[in-house]
Amino acid sequence: MILMNDFKNEPIELKNEMTEAIRNVIDSGWYILGLEGKRFEQRWANLCGVQRGVGVGNGMDAIEIAIRVLGIGEGDEISTTSMTALATVLAIVRAGATPVIADVDPTTGLMCFESVERCVSNKTRALILVHLYGQLSEIDRWVALCNSYGIELIEDCAQAHLSSLNNKCAGSFGRVSAFSFYPTKNLGALGDAGMMLTSTDEFANRAEIIRNYGQNNRYEHSEIGLNSRLDEIQAAVLNVRLNWLKEYTERRQDIACAYLDGIKHNEIKHLARPIERTAHVYHLFVIRCTLRDILVSYLNNNAIQSLIHYPIPIHLQSPFINIKRDPQGLVGSEVHANQCISLPCHPQMTDEQVYYVIETVNRFKF
Ligand SMILES: *Cc1c(COP(=O)(O)O)cnc(C)c1O
Repeated sequence: MILMNDFKNEPIELKNEMTEAIRNVIDSGWYILGLEGKRFEQRWANLCGVQRGVGVGNGMDAIEIAIRVLGIGEGDEISTTSMTALATVLAIVRAGATPVIADVDPTTGLMCFESVERCVSNKTRALILVHLYGQLSEIDRWVALCNSYGIELIEDCAQAHLSSLNNKCAGSFGRVSAFSFYPTKNLGALGDAGMMLTSTDEFANRAEIIRNYGQNNRYEHSEIGLNSRLDEIQAAVLNVRLNWLKEYTERRQDIACAYLDGIKHNEIKHLARPIERTAHVYHLFVIRCTLRDILVSYLNNNAIQSLIHYPIPIHLQSPFINIKRDPQGLVGSEVHANQCISLPCHPQMTDEQVYYVIETVNRFKF
């Protein structure tokens, strides 16, 4: 089976480096919020072109904390998409704000400007822009839109590690941004981890308080916080895996190029190519097919795993049936959810496997 992720097949050098890093943490006798975490925060912020990183427990908490440091909460609205991990919307709710769902362009899965404009009201304080699948698209237009309405741009970069346009990275466009290091992300830990990035010291300092029960001085608490701290073992693993990220991202981009050039089928459509190679890091390689469910079982019968990101848009999930949304509806999201399919695209794939996927998809009959 060609898997969507194949961690067991990662190189022995990488596994040895992680094992050594973990042993060093054990020997250090210090396990939560320590030197490994500080080092990872600095390295990641630096690579993304941002001043400060605040390591937290997971990507969802990073989004919640990003919202809270901006002073957004009860009574405020945040516009975002239905075509994302549930965590994006959950984080808004956890921060006390009201999510308002904008529609996506079904040909990319990315939010539509016109729909976001229909969602903006006098209560809107922010837009959470999800760089879905790793795509960093039309960022100047999004920045301009947020500026024109006087709302904050919060980037959900959980799928877009080091995606860049004109040498400027995902996570550096808004005043705050959020990353997940869940194991399957392009940069993943061996458990849960996340980070908020910002170049505003006031926001970073506040995030450091919120992640640690709202503690401003030892055993003195200035607000109601979370328990969402980055542990040293995950940080040490991330410091190792970060050294491999550039090579692994390039491998993903090469596989994606091979798919874009090689997959040719009347019933299958590609998403738009990025305008620069670096502007898509292919956390997921997604195609569209109106016979999607038949294609999924055909691939499965031919030993190719696939997944759907996402089969049920958030506004159709039972806790969110009545969620506020674009008054013109969310048809684009529903169409995309019915047609999208993610093919294996990860650094452990061999060239033979990549060509096998291309040939198998091209031979699809129904
Ligand atoms: C994974 C993901 C998250 C949540 O990250 P966790 O670390 O699982 O909490 C948020 N947004 C998007 C787009 C994601 O892909």
